[in-house]
Amino acid sequence: MNVVLDFTGLDVLIGVLREDGRTVVGPVHQDDAITLAELTSAADLPSGWGVETGPGHYRVRRRSDAAVFGHSAGPQSWKKFLHPPRRTLVSSDSTGFHAAEEPAPDYAFFGVRPCDLAAIAKLRQIVGGRTPFVVAAQCTEPGEVCFCSSMGCGPGAGEGYDIALTERIDSGGHRFLATAGTSDGSDVLTRVPARVATTEDVMTAEQDVAAAAGRMGRAMPELDLRDLLAASRDSRHWESVAERCLTCGNCTMVCPTCFCVSVEDATDLQGGAERSQRWASCFEIDFSYLHGGSVRTSGAARYRQWMTHKLGTWHDQFGTSGCVGCGRCIAWCPAGIDITEEAAALSHDHDARGE
Ligand code: SF4
Ligand code: SF4
Repeated sequence: MNVVLDFTGLDVLIGVLREDGRTVVGPVHQDDAITLAELTSAADLPSGWGVETGPGHYRVRRRSDAAVFGHSAGPQSWKKFLHPPRRTLVSSDSTGFHAAEEPAPDYAFFGVRPCDLAAIAKLRQIVGGRTPFVVAAQCTEPGEVCFCSSMGCGPGAGEGYDIALTERIDSGGHRFLATAGTSDGSDVLTRVPARVATTEDVMTAEQDVAAAAGRMGRAMPELDLRDLLAASRDSRHWESVAERCLTCGNCTMVCPTCFCVSVEDATDLQGGAERSQRWASCFEIDFSYLHGGSVRTSGAARYRQWMTHKLGTWHDQFGTSGCVGCGRCIAWCPAGIDITEEAAALSHDHDARGE
């Protein structure tokens, strides 16, 4: 099912999802970034805002049009809804133990970019949870740090959406081609004012998405990364990265698929206690703490762990890469370290060693 909505139709779509009891979350312009928050109407979307990105660089900028999906991935990802940064697991007081879980809302994720659609599937494979209703926004505006095309995760939406939107603004007006991916998606679209899409609408959207594939700011080298990482354990290049890496962990926090957690206990003087879970990072010195000390004491060892897991051993664990090419780890690295460049450097080092 393909239909075309105008901006009013988009607003009605959000209203229908809310009427059905869903908490609709999507992109908003907030705190000089495109972040994710609850949407009450299409007016909450970041109309007319784009972004400029680069290694260690992210700035919002005014666009010359009113596009609402004219921005690449921001600092937040859908991970914060599927796998909250901190949550209480159990608490206790003088009356006993209490499960502290709030039931997760019935989410509708609105404006999910294809890289993040792939990330949601990878993350849910690990953390599970309730299936969100997903309205994807196909990518026609890749950013400077984007490389989803070379990871096979975009710019077209893959599996896992209920509705996929493709935004277009031209002399024909501001409109969205909406494609249903599930029967739930079709049902919702029948309740939204829309016209039937023409062959030209569909072809134009396909051309816009195909053109985006050629405008990615960078690409992951075309190599068997799993083999490369396995062969690079003793590469000299890890020391070169460590000279730049601050081991701050930003890359793991912004990554839409990094899922590691730490569990902490706290007590108070009234006899209460709480066990909570928080996001952790393999860049923390305590992350690899075993009896007697940490296993990965150097920055080189910690960066190697992160990259080797992300691009290599993730395949052994989960049957897929841990990277979707969203570029967040590049934009939000204070040292501007670029995972695509590090992969290329590892490859050169591997070749130089003649292995
Ligand atoms: S490793 Fe970097 S580019 Fe890949 S999914 Fe994580 S944040 Fe995105
Ligand atoms: S690669 Fe960058 S973001 Fe990641 S820990 Fe090192 S300095 Fe921080």
